[in-house]
Amino acid sequence: MKIEVLKNISSANDAIAAQNRNKLDEQGVTAVNIMASPGAGKTSFILQTIDHLKGKLKTSVIEGDIASKIDADKIDEKGIPVVQINTGGNCSLEAHMIGSSLDKLPLKDTEILFIENVGNLICPASQALGEHIKVVIASTPEGDDKPSKYPLMFAESDAVIINKIDLAPHVDFDTAGFKKVVQGLNPDVVIFEVSSKTGDGIEKWCHWLTAKAKKS
Ligand code: MG
Repeated sequence: MKIEVLKNISSANDAIAAQNRNKLDEQGVTAVNIMASPGAGKTSFILQTIDHLKGKLKTSVIEGDIASKIDADKIDEKGIPVVQINTGGNCSLEAHMIGSSLDKLPLKDTEILFIENVGNLICPASQALGEHIKVVIASTPEGDDKPSKYPLMFAESDAVIINKIDLAPHVDFDTAGFKKVVQGLNPDVVIFEVSSKTGDGIEKWCHWLTAKAKKS
């Protein structure tokens, strides 16, 4: 009985995710689900990406957090349309939350929608939102063992970002070993090394994202 209930919840979420996807496709919007642990630099990475795409692609953002609107305020300061979702205690955004946020965003004037998921490497991996691209960010101070400990998120993502490469000389992070584990879980994945602080590597990532958005 319990299994059946869980299945129903998951298929209800998937049905709403499919509706979201249709809505996004109708408006020509590519949605990017950004996942990471707290402090990996999701918001800074989105801000750097938006800055880089300015004048080339129109962007909007959905911010997901347990509480607060700190991140949405940072996006708003840039003049980018943003909706903040507070999940209460929920450890992931869910498709219905995205569905109601889409109504509040100027989709006609959006080419890429960034969805910053709630900070953790577990729950967001198994919740479809209707996104086109899944991205997981791992930062060098967190250590290089995250793909081994949280394999599902790394296996499901289209791109993996190694953030805070400016800190790599000061922390123990085995970049080659990290990449090897990720590629073992997900042979098709693309890995980018960036610093959202200095902007290093952002151009290469934006180039890939732009090409991918045109195809989706
Ligand atoms: Mg954030």
